Amino acid sequence: MNKPLEGKIALVTGASRGIGAAIAERLAADGAELVLHYGSGRAETEALAASLRETGRNVHLLQADLAAVDGGQQLVGRLAALQLPRIDVLVNNAGVALFAGLAETSAEEFEKLVSVNMRSLFFVTQGVAPLMPDGGRIINVSSAVTRIAFPGITAYSASKGFVDVLALQLAAELGPRGITVNVVAPGAIDTRMSAWIHGPGGKETLAQVQALPGIGQPSHVAGVVAFLAGPDGAWTTGQVVDASGGTKL
Ligand code: NAP
Repeated sequence: MNKPLEGKIALVTGASRGIGAAIAERLAADGAELVLHYGSGRAETEALAASLRETGRNVHLLQADLAAVDGGQQLVGRLAALQLPRIDVLVNNAGVALFAGLAETSAEEFEKLVSVNMRSLFFVTQGVAPLMPDGGRIINVSSAVTRIAFPGITAYSASKGFVDVLALQLAAELGPRGITVNVVAPGAIDTRMSAWIHGPGGKETLAQVQALPGIGQPSHVAGVVAFLAGPDGAWTTGQVVDASGGTKL
């Protein structure tokens, strides 16, 4: 039987580790050829690429620092150099967190959030959308904190609000081409970004706020992305799909 993404080419930003690496693994398992973007995690991305190639997949690597003012455009320029025929699936996953409230947020940290989580995501999407055939898929990784208010992650949450609104608007703009644009909203997921889970009180906090027991894994998010990228997601667009284990329902 054919795999659901056989013949498709998927670009995943921030694929060096964590959620992005799990998304890349899942889309490759579903049959896609992969373009793995990374910023500084070259060795990790090369190791991931090697393991995916062992399963028979075509894999390309793409470096770009999305904290640069023109990081999105740099990524798009280097993508063009790969001379791929098209990009069928774009997963805007790369992101940085900032655990700070209103008073503790510096202008420098704010600028980095804007660059990585907002500006680069926008210009990557702007550059990749013309490379998509009719029926392409765009999936943004946002966060459950656009639905739930937690003190102490103020600017980060607002940056993800941009990601949600952009997807809604693009779903209407790109819909006539049959391109779907959706958002996956993880809760706390067991990656380097949420290392606090394993710190004092981390697991107790999760038990208090989640409907489901346990710790969210990158594969939980990847499963939702695979649905939205695959044939079963064809009639879903402009949506935010929660992957938070029912956090603060
Ligand atoms: P992570 O382990 O810290 O990974 C972040 C990824 O983003 C890495 O691949 C990193 O690449 C890339 N990245 C960061 N800054 C970059 C830059 N300046 N230029 C290029 N790439 C950059 O985090 P994660 O948990 O997997 O997060 C993935 C996404 O999920 C993010 O958008 C995050 O906001 C979202 N999310 C995470 C959680 C959670 O609890 N973990 C919850 C909700 C939403 P390099 O290392 O190669 O630079």
